[in-house]
Amino acid sequence: MNALLWGFWLVVVIAIAVWAFGSQKRRRQKALEQAGPLSDEDRGFLDDHFDLWKKIPDELRRRIEPIIQVLVAEKNFEACGGLEEVTREMKVVVMAQAALLLVGRDHRLFSKLRTVLVYPDAFSGGREEDDDSVRLGESWESGSVILSWRSVQRGGEDEKDGRNVVLHEFAHQLDQENRHADGLPQLENRNTIGKWAHAFSSAYEDFCRDLDERRKTVMDPYGASNPAEFFAVATETFFEKSKQLHRDYPQLYEQMKEYYGLDPLKW
Ligand SMILES: [Zn+2]
Repeated sequence: MNALLWGFWLVVVIAIAVWAFGSQKRRRQKALEQAGPLSDEDRGFLDDHFDLWKKIPDELRRRIEPIIQVLVAEKNFEACGGLEEVTREMKVVVMAQAALLLVGRDHRLFSKLRTVLVYPDAFSGGREEDDDSVRLGESWESGSVILSWRSVQRGGEDEKDGRNVVLHEFAHQLDQENRHADGLPQLENRNTIGKWAHAFSSAYEDFCRDLDERRKTVMDPYGASNPAEFFAVATETFFEKSKQLHRDYPQLYEQMKEYYGLDPLKW
């Protein structure tokens, strides 16, 4: 085949890819435009189980609500471990916290995620372990997030303890969108990647040193496991202990603020 023909096919393939990307984006925008606000009943669920919701400015809540609606409608939910069903209440409470990670960014509605599996309580075995060696949540590159409803409630109802299993697992989903979980989610450009890498690696080093020297840290020690866990734990801390994170790791805070397009310090 001659060079001209190769060139032609290359142009065709690129054009199809650009068109597919654009049409995905238009589909997402349309779904978000068509999704209405939450009902009063839904908002009541958030008042009951998502403390941070009360602090979020009204203007931001209005932008989050359609994202919650679309996530609830488009993702599959599976009741596991003896849970009878994943109720509307559970779906809204989980997705409201997840939507917080999207609202300030040019997002893709957690493009890899297909199914959220919900257990009634902690489940045993596996990677993400708490002190008592039971899993509270998991995020898989293959397209699923696993949560226990009890830990979702515990994480959401205390907005100041710096621990929130939904923010943690959905931060992994963002990290997994561009390839593997490595603490480097999809960023705008090379310049941003350079700043991110610098802020993250120096914060990670400081954090590990503080732990080695047995100093109290604002972030959960679990974040020292690897850069992917560090990003997930930093996300929980960013939303739940913004003041302390800003005080102890100002550069890291700035990067998180830029990435999420939000500034919880002002809430
Ligand atoms: Zn994790």
